[in-house]
Amino acid sequence: MIKSTLEYSYLTLPNIFYERVKPAAFSKPEIAVLNQKLMEELGITTSQAQEILSFLQLAEPNPDAQSFAQAYAGHQFGHFTMLGDGRAVMIGEWVETEEKRYDIQLKGGGRTKYSRGGDGMATYKAMLREYLISEAMHALNIATSRSLAVIKTGELVQREKVFEGAVLPRLMKSHIRIGTFEFARNFGTTEDLQALTNYTIDRLYPALKAAENPALALLNTVMEAQIKLVANWMRVGFIHGVMNTDNMSLSAETFDYGPCAFMNTYHPNTVFSSIDRDGRYAFKNQANICKWNITRLAEALLPLLHTEQEKAIAIAQEIIGTFDQIWVNQYYKTMLLKLGITEINITLCDWVNELLAMMEEEQMDYTNTFLALGNPAFAAETHQCSERFIAWRNNWKKYIEDTVGMAKAQAIMQANNPAFIPRNHEVETALDEMIMGNAKPFENLLQVIKNPYTYDPKFHSYTAPPQTEFDKNFKTFCGT
Ligand code: AMP
Ligand code: MG
Repeated sequence: MIKSTLEYSYLTLPNIFYERVKPAAFSKPEIAVLNQKLMEELGITTSQAQEILSFLQLAEPNPDAQSFAQAYAGHQFGHFTMLGDGRAVMIGEWVETEEKRYDIQLKGGGRTKYSRGGDGMATYKAMLREYLISEAMHALNIATSRSLAVIKTGELVQREKVFEGAVLPRLMKSHIRIGTFEFARNFGTTEDLQALTNYTIDRLYPALKAAENPALALLNTVMEAQIKLVANWMRVGFIHGVMNTDNMSLSAETFDYGPCAFMNTYHPNTVFSSIDRDGRYAFKNQANICKWNITRLAEALLPLLHTEQEKAIAIAQEIIGTFDQIWVNQYYKTMLLKLGITEINITLCDWVNELLAMMEEEQMDYTNTFLALGNPAFAAETHQCSERFIAWRNNWKKYIEDTVGMAKAQAIMQANNPAFIPRNHEVETALDEMIMGNAKPFENLLQVIKNPYTYDPKFHSYTAPPQTEFDKNFKTFCGT
């Protein structure tokens, strides 16, 4: 039995923040992938499909359920618009302890009043992709939404072609977005904004309640947490692909895995999203966009920062003014860990830049270059390098030997440089095979990415980058 401890604290907010709505009644829901380990971690012990479907409100209607869709707005590619959960239904909050409260949301769960002409559905392939990438991110120790399962709905979904539909039940500390604050500021009263701020602090950062100016403390805390998150993305070569303000969470968890992808050959301008033609969300721009988005959060919070607008703006500017410095420190700290180095100074930062410039010019693989530096077993197996790279490496080696020593540096590097990332070509093959009914490549890839930091020669083929042509032509898509 699943002990149903779903709660609905979000519904204590003023009702402009949500619409009460039930998930769609799907004709033939069927569990295709189940995250048994996560279920156990949450204390959901049943493996009875029917019980799981009932718990997720995808079987017979549950009279106690109070599911809802969240209202939010947001800047999409720089333009402000009203959005909201157009294809996601929150079935409630799973509460392990008061500190461990998670939203459970059904992505692809049917239409809501925020659907704006969309069908509220998601395709099986896109939900399998979100499952795989979010679980990879979790294994990489990067804050992320989690995926509980992929459930085929038994419905057909019309896109450019007809596809099988699916629902992804996902878990997050909270789905509150920068866009939720923009919604409150633009469509609600100052009391609504205050209520959302209080709720967010209570739920995510209770220590900030005691701050002199809690809204200011929230802004600062979210900014620092987002900086850490984006630096972590850069560490593993992750490109989110659609960093609109509605896709950035106050909990600083990575979520809304649409056109995201991992970079193979290092190039700062890498972008895979089919709609990001100007590279707004390219690999190298992620910190700038993070700052831009945090500035939108600051604007939304202005009425709570100070009663006088001019003073509020000055306070916000002061906080945003610290972004660049915090970012530079966090970024180089993170990149130096990839080189096994725990100190930080100008010369060391230059080494990072020199290495990246060389990787760009010599079209080196991002993951494998760092992996080879820290892992002689892998390096011996594969790595060919230029004279220039060898000179750089000798310098670096000498520094390591004169300071921490190679063994210690290697331990640091192995904790920070993944051996296995979900490479685009492997992901595509796994998904295409899965939707054709062959689960093996999906299961194998899932197994490999669940242990990303241990190089295992048995899985060596998963370290291979695709043919150059594959990446050149590879495109990812948003709301499929
Ligand atoms: P996303 O690109 O996933 O962040 O989605 C942007 C907005 O479009 C959100 O408000 C989504 O809920 C909405 N949306 C995306 N796909 C659909 C769909 N198939 N039906 C209804 N709304 C959708
Ligand atoms: Mg979104």
